[in-house]
Amino acid sequence: MSTSTASDARQPLVGLGRAELSALFAEMGEPKFRAKQVWSWLYAHGVTDFEAMTNLSKPFRARLQDRFTLARPDIVTELASTDGTIKWLLRLPDGNEVEMVFIPEEDRGTLCVSSQVGCTLTCKFCHTGTQRLVRNLGPYEILGQVMLARDRLGEWGRKEEKRRLTNIVMMGMGEPLYNFENVRDALLVAMDGDGIGFSKRKVTLSTAGVVPMMERAGDEIGCSLAVSLHATTDEVRNEIVPLNKKYPIAELLDACRRYPGVHNARRITFEYVMLDGVNDSDADARRLARLLKDIPSKVNLIPFNPWPGSAYVRSPDERILKFQDIVANEGLMPAPIRRPRGEDIMAACGQLKSASQKLKRADRDRLAAEASAA
Ligand code: SF4
Repeated sequence: MSTSTASDARQPLVGLGRAELSALFAEMGEPKFRAKQVWSWLYAHGVTDFEAMTNLSKPFRARLQDRFTLARPDIVTELASTDGTIKWLLRLPDGNEVEMVFIPEEDRGTLCVSSQVGCTLTCKFCHTGTQRLVRNLGPYEILGQVMLARDRLGEWGRKEEKRRLTNIVMMGMGEPLYNFENVRDALLVAMDGDGIGFSKRKVTLSTAGVVPMMERAGDEIGCSLAVSLHATTDEVRNEIVPLNKKYPIAELLDACRRYPGVHNARRITFEYVMLDGVNDSDADARRLARLLKDIPSKVNLIPFNPWPGSAYVRSPDERILKFQDIVANEGLMPAPIRRPRGEDIMAACGQLKSASQKLKRADRDRLAAEASAA
């Protein structure tokens, strides 16, 4: 496989959309159909070597090889949980690192994809929230996670009904709506029927509640929406999801009502982490049912997954079951309890974190100079 290193000055081809490929090949003096040919090699066949693009002339392949790379992010570690979950730590061309997780279930396989190195939000129950934002990921780095997972799972060329990777959730490190354009561009390629071909229903973007961007996400991406709600009063939500101080619950739920394409067959998923004594009372369950009653909703109850230094405790099983019963019966909505997955490898919801740190500009410049001298 081609590899990507900090000293590789070639541009990644992965991540470019149809219009960008067309513009690129027009600029290289190539005929119009070139973009379609290369698109198909990239996203329908997943090739990692220009030599495999057999319907392109040898000189053109050599020109591509000189300017571009087909690299995916580099794998630093690949950890497999006893429950089948796989977590990868990935290194990006500039040396920063992010995590992605594959969660196999009986009827589906979900890839949890990161959108940022670190996160600006500081949700109190989330390990990523303790890591300052280093930077946004580019389309290559977001789509590259999906392509790499397909490489590792042997998905290219496999019939749809035989695929292990069936769903994508933008629920890894970072807030996707704070990196809107790059996430949009990557997902539009992932959802293109002539390529990777995930249906819009099987791609979910999860937000902590960046209200002003939600409508655009629905219009311009059109995938399913998940909202990290986690509390039923502004007082508690201000504490555990501090973004709530900017966009309180009422505003957030209004934006959910307006989310394009929402109806009973296409519900919004509300994520609700179960924190002992914080947000898990009967009164919370009743309020949650009331708050969501006029929104086509599904509530995912997530038993809290602890991480080193976390301040919370998981609600006891009986409490979670009682909470679920009230939400399902009074809210008349599905409220499944999400079984923690990959806990033994710190891959469960809210546990992701990489060692990348925000560097001072002088340190960044020094590292970049060292990398290009190497
Ligand atoms: S839950 Fe999401 S938005 Fe909140 S800190 Fe973690 S990664 Fe950031």
